[in-house]
Amino acid sequence: MMPATTATHCPYCALQCGIHLTTGPAGMIVSGDAAFPVNQGALCVKGWSAPETLTHRDRLRTPLVRETGARCSPLVPGTWDDALERIARRFAEIQTRHGRDAAAVFGGGSLTNEKAYLLGKFARVALGTSNIDYNGRFCMSSGAAAATMALGVDRGLPFPLEDIPQATTILLAGANIAETLPPLMQYFEAHRSRGGTVIVVDPRRTPTAAWADWHLALRPGTDAALANGLLHVLIRDDLIDTVYIRDRTEGFEQARQIAAVYWPEKVEQLTGVPAPQLVEIAHHLGAAAHPMILTARGPEQQSQGVSNTLAYINIALALGAVGKPYSGFGCLTGQGNGQGGREHGQKADQLPGYRRIDDDEARAHMADVWGIPASAIPGIGKSAYELLMSIGRGGGVRSLLVMGSNIAVSAPNASVVREKLEALEFLVVADFFLSETAELADVVLPCTQWAEEDGTLTNLEGRVLRRRKVSEPPEGVRSDIEILCTLGERLGHRRQFLYANSEAVFDELRRASRGGPADYFGITYERVETEKGVFWPCPSIGHPGTQRLFTDAFPTPSKRARFHAVSHRSIGEETTEEFPFYLTTGRILAQYQSGTQTRRVRALDAIAAQPFLEMHPSSATVVGVAAGDRVVLTTRRGSATFVVKTTLSIREDTVFVPFHWAGEQSANRLTNAALDPTSKMPEFKVCAARIDRADP
Ligand code: SF4
Repeated sequence: MMPATTATHCPYCALQCGIHLTTGPAGMIVSGDAAFPVNQGALCVKGWSAPETLTHRDRLRTPLVRETGARCSPLVPGTWDDALERIARRFAEIQTRHGRDAAAVFGGGSLTNEKAYLLGKFARVALGTSNIDYNGRFCMSSGAAAATMALGVDRGLPFPLEDIPQATTILLAGANIAETLPPLMQYFEAHRSRGGTVIVVDPRRTPTAAWADWHLALRPGTDAALANGLLHVLIRDDLIDTVYIRDRTEGFEQARQIAAVYWPEKVEQLTGVPAPQLVEIAHHLGAAAHPMILTARGPEQQSQGVSNTLAYINIALALGAVGKPYSGFGCLTGQGNGQGGREHGQKADQLPGYRRIDDDEARAHMADVWGIPASAIPGIGKSAYELLMSIGRGGGVRSLLVMGSNIAVSAPNASVVREKLEALEFLVVADFFLSETAELADVVLPCTQWAEEDGTLTNLEGRVLRRRKVSEPPEGVRSDIEILCTLGERLGHRRQFLYANSEAVFDELRRASRGGPADYFGITYERVETEKGVFWPCPSIGHPGTQRLFTDAFPTPSKRARFHAVSHRSIGEETTEEFPFYLTTGRILAQYQSGTQTRRVRALDAIAAQPFLEMHPSSATVVGVAAGDRVVLTTRRGSATFVVKTTLSIREDTVFVPFHWAGEQSANRLTNAALDPTSKMPEFKVCAARIDRADP
């Protein structure tokens, strides 16, 4: 067998690093694609070790069904025909008894654009349910909502990564790039080598914060106060761009009035960031020729995540930075197809092309593409956590199809979520491993993995990329697209679910998105291949794609960006005598999301086999524990057990736990599901916790 090399992309995060996969007698070998402009050959350890999941011994190779049909009977191998027949029959039965919305679909930000699109179509056309949402609700929804409100459209980065080196001052809020997006650091290194300044806002002195020029170690949950404080100083000291504010924005006066009460000393009290430091940072930003503000999950995964993000956008607008070269505001998307996954209809309030499902024109357009009456398209459904909480209640969800998500580990308040999944009348999970969610299912469908399928993903810059099929899937495994098409047919919608291949699905997606905010009409597989990705919006075949948004106008009714007057609000759960620490959660370098894939990779397990509880040594002394001790971390929702790691790099009032593990080590058993009122994002980033020594 001669080695063959294919250019494709890493299966994990939103950077979507270009890789070369070489298949030969020795198996599959990864190398970084030096010609791909995003990562320029660099990869993190997850990318290097990605092929191990393809041939892993845990790989599911046959559908699993409950032996007797009852949930209490064991999962046993079944045939595809039996599994699909059970799914179609049970979904139809339950919908006949309890109505269309008794069925629900839960997708994921790792699904290709084609799958995300088809999953939305499956929910709306084949099941006729309004209840579809996805795990991106837990990831980017606050950033997306804020960008749409302020700038008119949500494309995580409205400029290419190549702008970063030429920015002069970058404020990074709640983003630990050195661990979560390591190849992206080369852009920041280049920025600093040109004399640029990086300011990191984070309760932890992460590797990114330690590397930066400045670290503002704010109290968890106080981003809006900090951002308003910066805006206060910018206005007070005449560091804003009044011409830009006059010509390109609206709503400044209301934002100014709110910022006026966030004087530095008050902000110091709220955030813990010293007033002189706040003033100095504001002056750095105000003096920068090309200021750039980037947010990530830190400020976004809070019950005031939208307000936090809007407050950071206000700064970028006041500086006149948005829509200008090497400047601006952006959110760093996390999941592999977090961007594309939120554009094409697997979100409860959306239709493809980032259209709203309550917009009559959008409904008419989609009805035309799908060949159904507009009146048959359901309305807005429940957001992810609300959908899960409706299970077991009158009028709630009773049957659920999960694709590309491990809810039992990734949802907040995970013990209750698990009880909800157990209370379903019928649960179907499509996955390539028996995830913690799949273990609870009535039917498990084994599906293809990244290197076994064709498709497209959209990276954190809004660049549409090609995923290429490199190897055949194991016998007995089917693609998600094939699964959805077969189920659509069995549910009586053969005509709407006939596709020759993933490209045919993409061609329909292009038409579906045509004229919408995320317009893919001009993007084809061929173009993506030859141009190394195409940026949306791209409304026609002859259009070059749009690297930089907002250069002339904003896609709002007034064509202006909008300031929002936002105040700091209390977090969902303040610390008390009983629960004296802030618990914050996040990702680490060698694991990814719920760990379904990465916990099975030996190279990653060797680096990070167990979670840990990171705390300040002074706090450890107060609690009476030391590094290496096992402790029980308790919140109002439950307890989990971790080994203590002491470090000076975290605030004394804060502890950190990574969220990639399940069961006794599940961080999400502890997290608070207080939802942002606009985005419905749960408050993963802060809740009140107590630490007790575990029994020996
Ligand atoms: S940074 Fe993200 S895309 Fe790149 S190799 Fe690592 S996990 Fe993969």
